[in-house]
Amino acid sequence: MSVENIQLSTNFNLREFFNPNDRGVTWRSRTWPQHNITVRPRPDDNLIHNLQTLRDMFGRPVTITSGIRSVEHNSTLRGASANSAHMTGAAADFQVRQTTRNKQVLRALTVREMVEVVQRAFNQGLLKGLGFVYAGSTFVHIGVDSEVPRRSIWGAGFV
Ligand SMILES: [Zn+2]
Repeated sequence: MSVENIQLSTNFNLREFFNPNDRGVTWRSRTWPQHNITVRPRPDDNLIHNLQTLRDMFGRPVTITSGIRSVEHNSTLRGASANSAHMTGAAADFQVRQTTRNKQVLRALTVREMVEVVQRAFNQGLLKGLGFVYAGSTFVHIGVDSEVPRRSIWGAGFV
């Protein structure tokens, strides 16, 4: 699968949203999520906005650990929902990894630290169309509504 080298925002490129090992050919329509499509979706504009906003608040690179998944690839992932918003381009999982700045090694952020920034951004009204959000064991999942009403989870997943 070749993905175009397209800069979507200051710090995110289209390529970061796709796993090079994903050989699938089917995705899901964002407007009708049960419907299979054969055109690879782009990340939702609000998702890009939210990731860039968080990246600016972290002041550090954000690594997308899972972006847009084909239906075939999604079905191979343990624990992935059969209706995952990853298949429509409306969700991404991310981490803030260890990095070096001014010869100083900055440790990776914990999930809790990442979640705190998401909550702060949310409370400040900086996130657009926020949908389903949860803390994974090593990453934070952030989704956007698009046309599909989903509820954000603030609580149970945030321990
Ligand atoms: Zn996810």
